[in-house]
Order: sequence, then C-alpha cells, then structure tokens
Amino acid sequence: MVSRKTVSRMSRYRRLLQSLRESGVESIYSHQLARHAVVSAAQVRRDLMVIGYSGSPNKGYDVAACIDSIGSFLDGAARQEVALVGVGNLGHAVLSHFADKSPSVSIVAAFDVDPELTDTLIHGVRCVDVSLMAELVRDLSIEIAVLTVPGEAAQDAADKLVSAGVKSIISFAPTPLAVPNEIFVEYMDITAALESAAYFARLGGREESAAGGNGDGDIEPMVKKLESLLARSNMKLEDLATNIGARMVTAGKPGGTTVAKVYAGDRVSDLLNEASDKTLLVSNLASVQMLRVAELMDVPGICFVNGVEPDAEMIQLAEDNDTLLMVSPQGVFETCGLIYQALDTEHT
Ligand code: NAD
Repeated sequence: MVSRKTVSRMSRYRRLLQSLRESGVESIYSHQLARHAVVSAAQVRRDLMVIGYSGSPNKGYDVAACIDSIGSFLDGAARQEVALVGVGNLGHAVLSHFADKSPSVSIVAAFDVDPELTDTLIHGVRCVDVSLMAELVRDLSIEIAVLTVPGEAAQDAADKLVSAGVKSIISFAPTPLAVPNEIFVEYMDITAALESAAYFARLGGREESAAGGNGDGDIEPMVKKLESLLARSNMKLEDLATNIGARMVTAGKPGGTTVAKVYAGDRVSDLLNEASDKTLLVSNLASVQMLRVAELMDVPGICFVNGVEPDAEMIQLAEDNDTLLMVSPQGVFETCGLIYQALDTEHT
C-alpha cells in the first residue's frame, strides 16, 4: 500500500508526461519532471521506484514507457465505474470534464432529486431519481462516488452509497462525513484552496515564510528555501569551504566559482541526474568516477566528506578540468547542514 499523496503525485506525473509526449518530448530527467510537478527530484525517483520504473543515467526516463508503468500502477485491470450525486452547477461541470476522458475510470450514472433533471442525458450520462440510487449502485457494482450535493444532503447520500457498496467517495460538499474507517474519502475543498492561495499571495508566494512549513513533515519547503538561498547567494565556493571548515584541494576555475544548487549523494546514476554546471556535489564517493561525472556534466565543484582525501589521479583530473575539490572533515549530513547554515547566515 502507498500513501494517498504518492498516488496523487503519480496521477500528476502521468498528466504532465502525457502533455510532454504530445509536444514531442521522448525522454526526461527526474529533475526536469520534478520541476514540472513542483516536487524534488529525489521525490520523483522515490515515487517511480515504488512502481518499479527506473530511468537510464544517460537519457533519463523514457516518457512513453514511464506513462505505461504509471498506468499499470494506477489503473485497474477492468474499468472502474463512478456515480455522481447532485447534478447542479458543479455536477454539470464534473460530468462535462470527465465525458470521454479516462477509459479506466468512468462516470456511468448521475442522481438528483430534481424531477426536471431525472431521466435526462447530461454529457452522455443518464440522470436518475435519487430514490433509485442504492439499488442501481448495487446492481452496477459501483464502488466510487462523487458528491456534488448541498452540504445538508451529503451525509445522508454518503450513508446510502456506503450501504450500497461504495468504497471511495470524493466530496465537494463543505461538511465532514462520518463513514466507516475502511471507506476512502477525499474532500475537494475549493474554499480552503482559495484561502491558502490568498494567504501565500499576501506573503509574496513564499510558502517557506510560513512558520513550520506545511506542518506534515514535508521536506519541500526546506528544499525550496535552500534553492532560493543558493539563487541569491554570491558566495564563492572558496569562501564556502572556509565557512564550513573544509580544506581546499584544487582551486577550480580562475576567478572563483559560485553554484545555484547543492546535491549530496553517492550513487553515480543519481549524481549524473543531478549534476550540472551550477551544482556543488557533496559525496562519500571519493573515486575517479566522481571526477568523470564532474567532467561529463561540467560540475564546478566537489566536496568530499568524512575527511577522505582524493588520490593523485583524482587531483590531476580535477586540475585538468578546473574542478574545485574540497574535503570536509564532517559526514554528509553535517556538511550539508553547515552549507545550509553558511548560506542562511549570509542572508540574515
Ligand atoms: P447546486 O445547488 O447548483 O447543485 C446541487 C444539486 O444537488 C442540485 O441539482 C440539487 O437538486 C441536488 N440535490 C439536492 N439534494 C440532493 C439529494 N439529497 N440527493 C441528490 N441530489 C440532491 O450546487 P453546486 O454549486 O453544484 O454545489 C454542489 C456542492 O459543492 C455544494 O455542497 C457546494 O457547497 C459545493 N461547492 C460548490 C462549488 C462551486 O463552485 N459550485 C465550489 C465549492 C464547493
């Protein structure tokens, strides 16, 4: 079982990949998909690992294959049918949006109390009187329902749907539903979304300015803050080395080097994915391979950790490519913390 957040990110990745494919994109790196999906590259890689899909270090993810893998994960073997209850303004909009959309999930019946609506076809879906809902939902083995009824009608509708066999409910109604634990409920709260948007707009769109981030342990606000500190930083790697107590081994580019990103890791495929001409790599991997990654991706600086010294061959390669090498006496975690602190102090 994976979390609902993971499932929802998978759906987002698929839609993004589908639209990229339509514009002719055949392959994509995790950091590029991450930028589109507004998550971290590590998050994308973790999510896709869950479904057993891994890209190639040189080409990234194959867009078509990745869409197929997400499809095998998200879509059931058989089409899943959905009922919609309440065919007013929102109900009409939902029916219109999903008409002919996903072949794997399809709204097959709609219910309302309004006699003017019953026995009509709305965007290809028959609207039936709500008194027949339980019977029809049971007969059609419908397990998913969308509630677009007024708040005061939502609980009663949910009770009837659950007794008829519905297992998942998406509710647009503003009232909380009391349902058995095993029933999945997703609330679509447009008012809360609007109020959040208004709140962050007042802060200049900077989510990290809100104390405690989003409060659910998500690392994204911290990642964003580090990115924005790096973007604003003019600190040269030479000065950063002094600030974090690292020893400079090679000088790097004449005139000094600044970076816009720091990536810590010790898998060559990850390093290749994340490396760029603006990245400082922080790694345990004190080997010639690291220098080859740096050479291939024009990486300006590498910080080895745990006091591990590069050998003569590595130093020669770094000098040949103007790669700045430094050695931190601390571990990866502590070194990254010191980098973060140095950048944060620079701006406070
Ligand atoms: P609406 O009044 O246009 O539609 C509600 C529909 O539900 C009507 O067709 C009504 O006949 C039907 N209905 C009433 N009681 C019912 C029952 N017991 N069983 C079946 N059908 C019943 O309202 P709306 O604007 O479409 O909003 C629907 C829900 O979504 C509300 O709870 C609303 O608060 C919420 N919502 C709407 C919007 C929006 O933009 N319209 C935004 C956020 C939330």
